[in-house]
Amino acid sequence: MTETGMIRHWIGGRHWEAAPDRTGDVYDPATGKVANQVAFASVSEVDRAVEVAAEAFAQWRNASLAQRSTVMFKFRELLNARKGELAELVSSEHGKVVSDAAGEVQRALESVEYACGIPALLKGGFSENASTKVDVYSIQQPVGVVGVISPFNFPAMVPLWFVPTAIACGNTVVLKPSEKDPSASVLIAELFAEAGLPDGVLNVVHGDKVAVDRLLEHPVVKAISFVGSTPIARYVYETGTAHGKRVQALGGAKNHMVVLPDADLDLAADAAVSAGFGSAGERCMAISVVVAVGPAGDELVEKIKTRIADVRVGSGPSCEMGPLVTGAHRDKVTSYLDAGVSAGASLVVDGRDHPVEGDASGFWLGPTLFDHVGADMTIYTDEIFGPVLSVVRTATYEEAVELVNSNRYGNGTAIFTNDGGAARRFQNEVEVGMVGVNVPIPVPVAYYSFGGWKESLFGDAHAYGPHGVHFFTRSKVVTSRWLDPSHGGVNLGFPQNT
Ligand code: NAD
Repeated sequence: MTETGMIRHWIGGRHWEAAPDRTGDVYDPATGKVANQVAFASVSEVDRAVEVAAEAFAQWRNASLAQRSTVMFKFRELLNARKGELAELVSSEHGKVVSDAAGEVQRALESVEYACGIPALLKGGFSENASTKVDVYSIQQPVGVVGVISPFNFPAMVPLWFVPTAIACGNTVVLKPSEKDPSASVLIAELFAEAGLPDGVLNVVHGDKVAVDRLLEHPVVKAISFVGSTPIARYVYETGTAHGKRVQALGGAKNHMVVLPDADLDLAADAAVSAGFGSAGERCMAISVVVAVGPAGDELVEKIKTRIADVRVGSGPSCEMGPLVTGAHRDKVTSYLDAGVSAGASLVVDGRDHPVEGDASGFWLGPTLFDHVGADMTIYTDEIFGPVLSVVRTATYEEAVELVNSNRYGNGTAIFTNDGGAARRFQNEVEVGMVGVNVPIPVPVAYYSFGGWKESLFGDAHAYGPHGVHFFTRSKVVTSRWLDPSHGGVNLGFPQNT
């Protein structure tokens, strides 16, 4: 960002100084005030970023693995040294409390650390003498210029799910972060430059649909990694693939936490509150539905209700839950409170009544709890993406699994039980990409990969980890015959017929 309060693109290793045709407001959600403006890229500015990335690709694709991992290790050290600053920046534009933002940066660091191991990750296979004196081996090459389009809710972590692996694999990147909290991406690009990444390997363009559409259509862009809501993920997948690109598009979620009657209900209630209301519910792995099986319901609802009363909402250092990202989003989330009541659900805790330790004009809404929610109610069917937790009662385990499997989303789910056999059966039967057993937010560590099923993911490659390396490389298999020196006519000093 420059001193004018304009958050600018980062193209070719420097801030793009041209005056933008269009800009957007970036809020401080804790005060409700506009804090900065962000430049919105025009088609020609996206084209310039892609052109610069294509020029850089010609060199970077041949950068040695040693050079790539050296840059990545250096970036990891810089990021680690400045993680507090990055967390503050995330908090100031997103609204999540600083401790939450610090957790996000920590997970981002893990992805960077994974990419530091790129020399080992890009090792191919080799078969000697597949036929007489014929060897066959595979190599993995970068795909070219890749576009990364990220959502507002993890402005540091989601770009870093993709950018380190893409770059380490030898690609160059044009990143289009969310226009709601764009500054983290610019700091990340600056740190990569400081780490020695050549100009043009990572570029950041800000903006909206104009920038996204240009990336989707641009013939030089070969791959798109997208994370966001399901309607846009579907659109990005369909448009990108229609333009000949490989696309991974991660979409929205409605994550269920199934609580069996034998579960430790205190553990389950703690988990429901932290996973339901952390980051004000603006997490794609947030728990938004608790499925209380059999007699677990009454006691569990009571325990969750008691804990909600203790959640400190505000902007101070000891607060646990911050504001929502914008006023419009807060109003949309709040509208579901009335919708739930009209549909006949029991409003156990009304977030509008929760005390707030912060500026009254911030985008606040406290934790809200509904009980006796039906599968036909909009508070159940829609991804609310806010601090609204619904409890659905089922009589049996089978009914609970049927409910989860009937949902159109399949991102994450959890089961709370003390029965290992039940947990094992659940992990086998449930149609969801990431499963937690007595763990409410089962985000895979960096050396696995992150991704949902059904309408939570369009495409087949999950994010980061082994899937990330696969997505950002093309395989080539070489079949090669070399005759002995005695047949070649050139005397290299070998004994004959060896
Ligand atoms: P969003 O879909 O509104 O925006 C995501 C990106 O798409 C942004 O960069 C935005 O500028 C761009 N965009 C928005 N509208 C567009 C349009 N009409 N055409 C082209 N591009 C457009 O999502 P969001 O509100 O920023 O993020 C929250 C959503 O992301 C939630 O649905 C959440 O579940 C999802 N999410 C999913 C995961 C996952 O791993 N599955 C992770 C994080 C967030």
